Amino acid sequence: MNDSIFKEKAKHLSLPLDSRQRMEDSQEVFISTTPEEKLIHPREIKDLRRKLLSWYRHNCRDLPWRRISDSYPIWISEIMLQQTQVQTVIPYFIRFMNSYPTIIDLANANTQSLLNHWAGLGYYSRAKNLKKAAKIIIKIHEGCLPNTYQDLIQLPGIGHYTASAILSIAFKKPYIALDGNLIRVLSRLFKLKGDITKTLFQRSLSRYGQQLIDELQPGEFNQALMDLGSSICLPRKPRCLVCPWESRCRSKRAGMQEKIPEKKKNLKVSVSNEFAVVIIHRGRTLIRKRSHSRLLQDMWEFPTGQIDQEESEDFLEKRIWSEFGLKISSPNLLTNLKHSITNRAINLQIYRANLKSPKVFDRSRITGKWIFISQIKKYPLTAATSKIVDLLRESSC
Ligand code: SF4
Repeated sequence: MNDSIFKEKAKHLSLPLDSRQRMEDSQEVFISTTPEEKLIHPREIKDLRRKLLSWYRHNCRDLPWRRISDSYPIWISEIMLQQTQVQTVIPYFIRFMNSYPTIIDLANANTQSLLNHWAGLGYYSRAKNLKKAAKIIIKIHEGCLPNTYQDLIQLPGIGHYTASAILSIAFKKPYIALDGNLIRVLSRLFKLKGDITKTLFQRSLSRYGQQLIDELQPGEFNQALMDLGSSICLPRKPRCLVCPWESRCRSKRAGMQEKIPEKKKNLKVSVSNEFAVVIIHRGRTLIRKRSHSRLLQDMWEFPTGQIDQEESEDFLEKRIWSEFGLKISSPNLLTNLKHSITNRAINLQIYRANLKSPKVFDRSRITGKWIFISQIKKYPLTAATSKIVDLLRESSC
């Protein structure tokens, strides 16, 4: 890594050059290493780089954001790829870039329409942060995505990983972008044992990664590692026989490739029972906007709520009356849907009911609308609501 980049990192950290580390988001992440510390032999580094990049040249995935070298689409793709599979992201990315081809378009985007473009991708704060960041970029950075770690990390929605990915791919700066795939591949390559969620482990891995990254082609190197992790060095049953690093991999040599990285203890999943009710009135149905105090805020849904253990038979009528001030008649259970949000498993009971009276709900507490079901996709819907709409369409076919 050249000296100016070391200085740039050290500057933003306000730390001396020999203690470059960074706290990011909720996790402490070590982003660099001292230049003198040689963890990998230079000959090994050279060989590993050559093998990986040569494999990548023949095997790289053809992804829409890889066909463009502009930093804006690279930023958008990296935000969409947070917590989301590549195949899911592709159609969203294409639609998003058609609607918001420049940072100015994004900054001026209508929030509801922006959320609509995001509906189904989850983690909707990412879309809102994109817009906030676009406004800052226009105000402070003359409309261009900044090209330093120090500036990128200040933007909403950009953490250490995303900044590193953007810097390496869009600006050719040698920052290793340690995501889940890279953590798995590098910890196997160097046979690093330990809890991958722990700071010390990530520091150690980052040191290896920073020494290994190809300084001339850092973006290709990070992307090659991402592809290697998603197609060859799989979480279960890594395909070592076709891996370009097979002869160098320390875990493979020790027969430990399936034991590294060590498994994380599973997060406890909580289970809850909820209802959603499709209330019909003269061909229209009621949807409401989720409030700011709830997860998935600003998304739209059918009236929804928790079902407590001791609910009476007419709980639905009572709940819709107390919450919306509406009377419904004879709710019918249409089906049950299994759904999950982060570590919450939800058994969703879907009902259909007719409105008795009145049509006007309590607007002081609820932001809602009576709409034709054919219009519903114009609204940014929660994933569960989208599934319900699909079920309703299927059942009316
Ligand atoms: S040899 Fe096997 S374990 Fe090692 S990096 Fe390649 S696929 Fe992963």
